[in-house]
Amino acid sequence: MSAPRDAPNGIGKAMKHLDLDGHDLPPSPTPSTPTNGRKYALATELVYTESNDQFNSSSTPIYQSATFKGGPGQEYDYTRSGNPTRTHLERHLAKIMNANRALVVSSGMGALDVITRILKPGDEVVTGDDLYGGTNRLLTYLKNNNDIKVHHVDTTKLASVKAAVNDKTTMVLLETPTNPLIKIVDIAGIAAAAHEANPKAIVAVDNTMLSPYLQNPLDLGADVVYESGTKYLSGHHDVMAGVIGINDASLGEKFFFMINSTGCGLAPFDSWLLLRGIKTLAVRIEKQQTSSQAVAEFLENHGFKVRYPGLKSHPQYALHWSQARGAGAVLSFETGSVALSERIVESTNLWGISVSFGCVNSLISMPCRMSHASIDPATRKERELPEDIIRLCVGIEDLNDLIDDLSQALVRAGAVRLTEGGFEALSSGETRGESGKTTQVVDEP
Ligand SMILES: *Cc1c(COP(=O)(O)O)cnc(C)c1O
Repeated sequence: MSAPRDAPNGIGKAMKHLDLDGHDLPPSPTPSTPTNGRKYALATELVYTESNDQFNSSSTPIYQSATFKGGPGQEYDYTRSGNPTRTHLERHLAKIMNANRALVVSSGMGALDVITRILKPGDEVVTGDDLYGGTNRLLTYLKNNNDIKVHHVDTTKLASVKAAVNDKTTMVLLETPTNPLIKIVDIAGIAAAAHEANPKAIVAVDNTMLSPYLQNPLDLGADVVYESGTKYLSGHHDVMAGVIGINDASLGEKFFFMINSTGCGLAPFDSWLLLRGIKTLAVRIEKQQTSSQAVAEFLENHGFKVRYPGLKSHPQYALHWSQARGAGAVLSFETGSVALSERIVESTNLWGISVSFGCVNSLISMPCRMSHASIDPATRKERELPEDIIRLCVGIEDLNDLIDDLSQALVRAGAVRLTEGGFEALSSGETRGESGKTTQVVDEP
C-alpha cells in the first residue's frame, strides 16, 4: 500500500500555498515547509520550519483555543477536528518521518488504538512475542472482545512470519528492536511477505525505540509507522504523545476520521511541547547512542552478556544496520542472578529506577519486576525473557559519570571482583553475598 519514495507528495507538497487537503491557508503558523521531498539533512529539517505566521514568530504560537469563529469553509472551527499548532506539528513530522501525512494523538497507545480500529471482527493479526506491554494488552482486549485473531510469532524468524501470514491476514504489527530482548525484525522482508500473502494487508511498525532519526519503516515497505512521542521525540518525559505516519491518502483519511470521531488528537500545548522536543532530537540521540556504545562495551568487556545492536556480538548486527542508521540508546544485560540484579539496580545513583525511556536522564530497570511484570512468569519463560535481565536507557549525562556510577553499583552489589586491571564479572555459580532489599514491583503503566 505504501507509495514509492519518489511519488508526488500530494497536493500540499506540490503547490506551495495549499495544504494536503487543497485548502488555501489563512495567515497562521500552519504550513511547515511544504516541499517536494526532503531538501536538507535530517538534523537540519528537525530544526528548520517555515510558517505563515503574521508576526513571523520564531517559536510556533500555541493556539490554546477550542473554537474558531467564522462561517463554514474556514480552515479551523473546532480543535477536536483541527488546530493550527497541531497541524504545524503534523506537517513537520511528516517531513521528518518521510511520510505523506502524519497525525498526532494523545499517546503512543492512542496511536495504536486509532490504527487497530480499522480491524473488523474475524480479521487476523500477526505480531511478535516480545511486544511492549501496553501493545500486548490492547491486542489481548481486541482478541477477547472484538473477535480479532492475534498470532504471536517470533518475528525475528522470517520463516515463522511467512508461515503465519495468509489471505486472511489484515495487519502485521512489528517492533524493532524489541524491548528488553533487543531482537531485530526484518521490516522489508516481512512487509514483502505480508503483501504477497495478502496485498491488502497493512504492515504497521512501532518505531518508538529508534525514532525517525535512526529508522524510517515507510521507506522499507511498511504501510504505517507509529511511535510514542513520549519517548525520544519529546525527550524530556514532560509530555505524552503518539505519532502516526502514512503514505497512502485513503489510510490517512481513515485514521483522521477516527481521531476526529473519538477526540484523541494531541492538545495544542502538548503539540507545542512535542514540537520543541523534536528540535533537539538529533543532538540528544547522537550523544545518547555514543554513550550507549561505550556502556555496552564496558559491560561486555567485564564479562556480562549484553544485548545491544551496536555490538558486533549481536546475532542480528548485519540485519539491524541494513535498515537503521544507528543502534539507539537502550540496551540490556544479564547478571546470572535475580537478587544480584536487584542489588545493582538499587545501588545506582545517577541511573534512576524508572519505567519508560527516551528521556535526557539515564534510567535503569528490571523489566520482569517492572514494565513486564504484567506478563505471567510462565509466558516470560516461554518467550525466553531472563528474570535477571537489567535494562539501561542511556541519557545525555557525562559518560565518565555514568560508567563510574554503574561501576560503583556493580562493586557494591557484589557483581564484580576486583582484579589487578580493574574488575571482572563473577561467574553465575559464585556467591553473591547478602540479598538486598527487593525492588519495588511496578506494573505496566
Ligand atoms: C512507550 C511505548 C509505547 C506506548 O506509548 P505511550 O506514549 O506510553 O502510550 C508503545 N510502544 C513502545 C515500544 C513504547 O516504548
